[in-house]
Amino acid sequence: MGEHDPNHPYVRKMIGCGHGVLFTDYCKDCEIVSVMERYKTAIRTVQHCRNDLRRLGVAVPGMTTLPARTQEGASHE
Ligand SMILES: [Zn+2]
Repeated sequence: MGEHDPNHPYVRKMIGCGHGVLFTDYCKDCEIVSVMERYKTAIRTVQHCRNDLRRLGVAVPGMTTLPARTQEGASHE
């Protein structure tokens, strides 16, 4: 997966993204970036909700302890 380059000639000319793909073409890397963004936001939302519920004294169903298998890929947090 290529890194997004804000100084890529396509970006400077406003004809494509930093992965070297023209806007007229589908860029998988751009979709991955946007999905990852949504994913990270969703994780944060879940964590905030969980903290708020805990603060309010509400038991979150199934969330009393973090199941190890949902931690896959979450190496940094
Ligand atoms: Zn792209």
